[in-house]
Amino acid sequence: MPKFIFVTGGVVSSVGKGITTASLGRILKSRGIRVTIQKLDPYLNVDPGTMSPYQHGEVFVTADGAETDLDLGHYERFLDQDLPAGASVTSGQVYFSVIERERRGDYLGGTIQAVPHLTDELKRRIYAVVEAAEADVIICEVGGTVGDIEGQSFIETIRQIRHEQPRNNTLSVHVTFLPYIGAARELKTKPTQHSVRELRSMGIQPDVIVARSDHHVPREICDKIAQYCDVQHHAVIPLETADTIYEVPLLLEQRGLGDFVMERLKLMGMPGLADWGEMVHRLKHPAGEVDVAVVGKYVELRDAYLSVNEALTHAGIAHNVDVNVRWVHSEDMQARDPASVLDGVQGIIVPGGFGERGWEGKINAARYAREHGVPYLGLCLGMQAMVVEVARNVCGLGDANSTEFDPETQNPVISLLDEQRDVTDMGGTMRLGHYPCRLQPGSLAAGSYGVDMVLERHRHRWEFNNTYRDQLQAAGLHASGTSPDGSLVEISELAGHPFMLGTQFHPELQSRPNRPHPLFREFIRAAMERGAGQPGAAESVAVSQ
Ligand code: GLN
Repeated sequence: MPKFIFVTGGVVSSVGKGITTASLGRILKSRGIRVTIQKLDPYLNVDPGTMSPYQHGEVFVTADGAETDLDLGHYERFLDQDLPAGASVTSGQVYFSVIERERRGDYLGGTIQAVPHLTDELKRRIYAVVEAAEADVIICEVGGTVGDIEGQSFIETIRQIRHEQPRNNTLSVHVTFLPYIGAARELKTKPTQHSVRELRSMGIQPDVIVARSDHHVPREICDKIAQYCDVQHHAVIPLETADTIYEVPLLLEQRGLGDFVMERLKLMGMPGLADWGEMVHRLKHPAGEVDVAVVGKYVELRDAYLSVNEALTHAGIAHNVDVNVRWVHSEDMQARDPASVLDGVQGIIVPGGFGERGWEGKINAARYAREHGVPYLGLCLGMQAMVVEVARNVCGLGDANSTEFDPETQNPVISLLDEQRDVTDMGGTMRLGHYPCRLQPGSLAAGSYGVDMVLERHRHRWEFNNTYRDQLQAAGLHASGTSPDGSLVEISELAGHPFMLGTQFHPELQSRPNRPHPLFREFIRAAMERGAGQPGAAESVAVSQ
């Protein structure tokens, strides 16, 4: 019989509820427990695929092609486990399926209500995921904070599951924040007390309170929370902001969260975070550093490139270096001299993106990397920028472009496939999720992966246009990864350059702290070989026309 852990948030959002959830997953998995994690998001969008990065940060994509909340990325990285589409549930999905069923007449004349119809559907989705995963424990994180209007049916669903299940089968973890009042030099527990009162008013008494703070949390504060919130003393777990998110499982285990959860849920297994601890030690004690630029449209908003940032960190762990990221606005790459913006960087990443703003700046970044021999990794749109750049400046196709940005171009080197041309719905209509990619023997890509076939995750509409394949190949741009039938170019790489490679997919989505993605690992290796502050102008590798 599986066990259920429900994680809710109190006081404010953005205090690391997702990291706490992922960390608890890691703690249990390291103790030999089979774990799965599910995110329950109360918003009405069916998925975050249609939301702006300003609203929602990065859209994470599962292997089976769901566009999900970025917390799924944390869960996969901490668990080192792929999660299915069902691991991401939104109110939008729940309403959608209930209303579809109502239209079909499935409810036989009944009145459709939040309770029991929405709650039943939500319960069905929670039980379905834990069953399919054959997990001992499912951790369900509820997005937002307790008290949000749209989250009420989620809290009610949790209450019902707790009521249905035997007492030792469920656990409620409430993650709150302790504000620090400078004038009094004191951490305050009152907002936590209020938030727990709110949770109780909906029928849930928390078993564990994780008290987040930017300051040291003295034991008296924890005792006060325990007393006023009616939680066992050792179940109030202080969690100060850590140096790195990967340290959080170690801190929580050290503070007794693992022991408490195991005992309460009647699970058996000893702590096993030694390997994880070693990984964190390497991360915190780098032997050197490397400077890379990430050229994007939303660089002021780090969450938009969360998985890219994490993948760089993982590659740094593998090489024992600290990866310093210079976040470069792609519009700056248009308005200013690229050399002044990118001076001294040892590697350049152009990540994925949509929309025209900053597009020419991304092409300028690719040109700078090519002409100056700076290692370059293009991720989806970043590969498309690299292809357009070579077409324009090496093949001499001056107006080469992607039809996403110039539908009238005479040289559409990036274009839509027929099946994408008639798509009108925005949601869920891209090439999404895992597709196989065959690697060309002897290529940089094949050498990096060390195998000849890989599965990688996609999220895009536009593709490399095969009409230009030979011409680009003659210019040194090789299709080193293709779909198994050879019809789709999945990886392009430039011959005679230390490392210039673009992927139509998003390798960053599959990188794990203990298993860095091979392309990121080799990109960082190339960046390290370039050496710090190396002036680039002298070693131009391909002559521009
Ligand atoms: N906008 C481009 C496309 O749809 C690239 C998408 C991306 O970078 N994920 O093909």
